[in-house]
Amino acid sequence: MVQFFHNTIVRAVADDDNIPLYRFDFIQLHFLEQFRSNAVLPDVVGLVVNEVGDSIEIEDKWGQRIQIKFWNDCFVEYSKQKDLLSDSTKPFFIVVTSTMVKEFNGKLNLCTSSSTKIYINLEVSEVVELKGILSEKLENTTIGKLDIQHTTMNAEDIASKTIDISTLMNHVQKTVEKDLIFYCKAKVTKVFGENSWYYISCPGCKRRITPRKTDFWCIPCEKKTERPIPRYRLEFGVLDHSGSTIFVIFDEEAKKLIGQDASTLFEANIYEKATSNNDDSDNDDEVQIPKIIENNIGRELLFKVKITAYNRKIKRQTFTVMKIIDPTFIEGNDKETKDKEMEDNLKDGSDSKEDTNDSSNDTSKKSKDEKVVDNKKRPHDGSDTKEDNNDSPNDTIKKAKA
Ligand SMILES: [Zn+2]
Repeated sequence: MVQFFHNTIVRAVADDDNIPLYRFDFIQLHFLEQFRSNAVLPDVVGLVVNEVGDSIEIEDKWGQRIQIKFWNDCFVEYSKQKDLLSDSTKPFFIVVTSTMVKEFNGKLNLCTSSSTKIYINLEVSEVVELKGILSEKLENTTIGKLDIQHTTMNAEDIASKTIDISTLMNHVQKTVEKDLIFYCKAKVTKVFGENSWYYISCPGCKRRITPRKTDFWCIPCEKKTERPIPRYRLEFGVLDHSGSTIFVIFDEEAKKLIGQDASTLFEANIYEKATSNNDDSDNDDEVQIPKIIENNIGRELLFKVKITAYNRKIKRQTFTVMKIIDPTFIEGNDKETKDKEMEDNLKDGSDSKEDTNDSSNDTSKKSKDEKVVDNKKRPHDGSDTKEDNNDSPNDTIKKAKA
């Protein structure tokens, strides 16, 4: 990835035949598994064989198939290019760049990222080659209807659990025996910098790690680490008609929202700082929030949030976000699209491991299969399991409030 900074200079140059107009890093669909970390966003090329709503299925030259889900702008771009085809009912070739590899029910899928570019029937050698191989397929076939697995959780379920911010706050006052799950549609108004946008974590257990004089010490793992890794912890100020509060978003969800992982952004940020000799850095305490995160200010999103006993104990009211959904996917009238989105929800149901709270979270595993996790009691305090409580920077939260 090439990142531009405020001091990057871009100059136009004359066309040069040595520099190709397009440059792709196509990967065989067969090897997608290796790209699940999202560190590299693979480019794919194939024939569109099935389609439904904002999802398509492509086939590569080896006959391997994969589903791709287009997010917002990508879907608009896809539809735009498709409209230009003389006959969009027949299979056509597509290049989709910078995709993200996701898993659902043991099956890999792709979705678009913020860097994705789409090209339909682009005249590049890979497409020409594919055309030769799949020419028979193109003869008398039409694009099929993509069969997406349905789940019991649907838009109505979300609607029935959607509340406004003031109602959410009221729920915190009540005695909470078990976790409660709600959905809240709110606008992002601010990204708080006081507690930074990331935390330094142990690569083993992914929990917050304590810096020592010369190295880092992970208390749960009882060992030192040479290379701690930054993970996201974003504090979004959010607002709706009824009030405002703070939603805390952890690594997995933040990564999806931002489109790159925290370590990549962290390195870019350090580099930017180093290259721009900051004379005006009077406020060293306040961590500068990277622009790519601040870009979310003004967006209206549907947040799946959790209320736990922990929420009642803290002074500064925050809520842990389990999932962020683009509300247009719920409001759209395409039922299939909705179900696909819900399916994505469930797929990522492990997000409860992003729990910030000071109690363990034994429900995270189960939440993959169960639609809602609020029917599980959980033990409190101190019974953390390493795996489930990955992101808990509890100590720091407490410290920060102290
Ligand atoms: Zn550790």
